[in-house]
Amino acid sequence: MSSSLTIIGAGLAGSEAAWQAAEAGVSVVLYEMRPQRPTPVHKTGNCAELVCSNSMGSNQDSSAPFLLKQELRNLDSLVIRSGDKNSVPAGKALAVDRDLFSEEITRTLEQHPNITLKHEEVTEIPMEGPVIIATGPLTSPVFSEKLSQLLGQDYLYFYDALSPIIDAQSIDTDKTFFASRYGKGDADYLNCGMSRDQYEKFIDELLKAEKVSLKEFEKPIYFEGCMPIEVLADRGPQTLAFGPM
Ligand SMILES: Cc1cc2nc3c(=O)[nH]c(=O)nc-3n(C[C@H](O)[C@H](O)[C@H](O)COP(=O)(O)OP(=O)(O)OC[C@H]3O[C@@H](n4cnc5c(N)ncnc54)[C@H](O)[C@@H]3O)c2cc1C
Repeated sequence: MSSSLTIIGAGLAGSEAAWQAAEAGVSVVLYEMRPQRPTPVHKTGNCAELVCSNSMGSNQDSSAPFLLKQELRNLDSLVIRSGDKNSVPAGKALAVDRDLFSEEITRTLEQHPNITLKHEEVTEIPMEGPVIIATGPLTSPVFSEKLSQLLGQDYLYFYDALSPIIDAQSIDTDKTFFASRYGKGDADYLNCGMSRDQYEKFIDELLKAEKVSLKEFEKPIYFEGCMPIEVLADRGPQTLAFGPM
């Protein structure tokens, strides 16, 4: 049996696993395919690159996301420590500067004496020694095929709502205002007020709008914590008003 731990994928999970094992004295070989083999959404070759939201959720004590982060802090988590160090204003949430965050994690892993970071795509499931597979939702197609042979296609499934990013320069600040979320924390969020008529027209247009068609492998089974806006709107005209808007 190999004496080292193999970790495939240096995203959030793989980076943290590598750090924890290495700190416990285990010799780790960590594989990350980027930048040689990019994914459709990652932009860099850094470990723990965030691909969408830069928020790690609430940092308000007594909330469940806070307690989870606090447990990770107690365990000397590299991901949370780097998040705390590179945080940006976001009211009571922990949001991070995504570049500084991933650069710091990459540097720390590269410098760890127990970690060998290899920028290579893994195309076969290793049969030797302990292995952690942490290739995430954008597992490379070749490796994904190997996983589906091992597990069966029924167990591999991913569906995600797109999160549009708006260029700050394009926003008319005469029509928007900064405020906190639900009166908590600082005024870090930009709000766009609507009258009742505007809101109703918005919902109307949203429901009529052309939708991105589903890929063959996508099934419209949604994670209720992160729903596409048009699916929420379809549940009733007030759903968005009492939810994210
Ligand atoms: C488009 C999109 C938007 C998302 N938005 C959010 C969001 O807003 N908030 C949220 O919490 N979550 C979001 N997620 C989910 C997000 O991916 C996870 O929260 C988080 O990144 C999962 O961490 P991970 O370590 O499992 O995977 P990842 O962070 O994706 O890391 C997996 C790593 O494995 C590498 N890899 C893949 N295949 C191989 C291979 N064969 N060999 C070597 N390396 C390989 C990849 O390059 C990647 O670096 C989103 C995902 C996607 C795809």
